[in-house]
Amino acid sequence: MSQNNKPIYVTSPTLPPLEDFIKYLEEIWESKWLTNDGSFHREFESKLAKFLGVKYLSLMNNGTLALIIALQELKITGEVITTPYSFVATTHALWWNGIKPVFADIIPGQCNIDPEKIEAAITAKTTAIVPVHVYGHPCDVEKIQEVADTYGLKIIYDAAPAFSVKIKDNSILDYGDLSILSFHATKAFNTIEGGAIICHDEKSKMRIDYLKNFGFAGETTVVAPGINAKMNELQAAYGLLQLKTINENILKRKKVDLLYRKLLKNVPGITLSEFGKDVQYNYAYFPLFVEEKIYGMSRDDLYNKLKENNIFSRRYYYPLISNFSAYRGLDSAKIENLPIANKMSDQVICLPIYSDLAEEDIERIINILKTF
Ligand SMILES: *Cc1c(COP(=O)(O)O)cnc(C)c1O
Repeated sequence: MSQNNKPIYVTSPTLPPLEDFIKYLEEIWESKWLTNDGSFHREFESKLAKFLGVKYLSLMNNGTLALIIALQELKITGEVITTPYSFVATTHALWWNGIKPVFADIIPGQCNIDPEKIEAAITAKTTAIVPVHVYGHPCDVEKIQEVADTYGLKIIYDAAPAFSVKIKDNSILDYGDLSILSFHATKAFNTIEGGAIICHDEKSKMRIDYLKNFGFAGETTVVAPGINAKMNELQAAYGLLQLKTINENILKRKKVDLLYRKLLKNVPGITLSEFGKDVQYNYAYFPLFVEEKIYGMSRDDLYNKLKENNIFSRRYYYPLISNFSAYRGLDSAKIENLPIANKMSDQVICLPIYSDLAEEDIERIINILKTF
């Protein structure tokens, strides 16, 4: 056992300074305004929209309800084409809306849904596409838009991992009809739990605000069967403080990413993910892909070896959503339909990455990885 054997987890959240948060808590205790469009909620919502460079954003209590509400807002029904290579909530949100998920395969390496496979999966019942910016890497947004325009489909991006990601200085959240974000503790930007829907006009924002508050449009008017997905004042206050350090944190993550890339150059059998052209990334994840025959060990061998050394990597995304019992009976879930997603899912491992991951910890991880 090495001298330094402290556990390292795949991520570790950045928290705001406690004394700053206490000041905000004192204000909340004073006002006793805990939720329902309070002043912290309003301030955080507008500052966050500005920070992200988007016009209309509605805060939510998590990313999953944001997705469920986004589908309600656009009244999506029938079949929706989505990726099996994601966190399970992407497909669960369809299920909770009574929508049939139709899985389309992904692009190798990049791991995002393949626009050509979307087109091949369209039927008379298809109403929308729910792609995911996997690991925060932008989908082929232009091609997906082309497919949607040709067939008259809506697009809702699950942008949960894509906080502050930009293409050519434009927010990734500008694309599609709606996008959702997650601010869960494990994400690059967290409000403990939390999320948002990003839309492109005032009326949509208004309807989304109604939907997250039971459908109330006034004290006695309910305009839709809404749900409760409101972010509370404590989370909004916490979020305001998080905004002050997010740029610095992303820079620190970038340094971790660069060091990993330097140390992992030319390791036979290990492939790293590539950023698209003109992308400003948030360094939310550090996925790599293990080619067993060349590397000499399987992905699971590496995962277990790291675990034995108290390093807790994660296999995002394994198993594929299409291989979970709830979905594996669907025609589109068959392995023959999703060869690339199944292959990537068997090869992927995400190494620890977070803003204060120390250089010596990165070296410890890489040394284990290179012993094969
Ligand atoms: C985190 C995540 C979600 C779920 O967000 P929650 O805030 O945890 O509900 C959905 N989709 C993807 C791709 C995610 O990474």
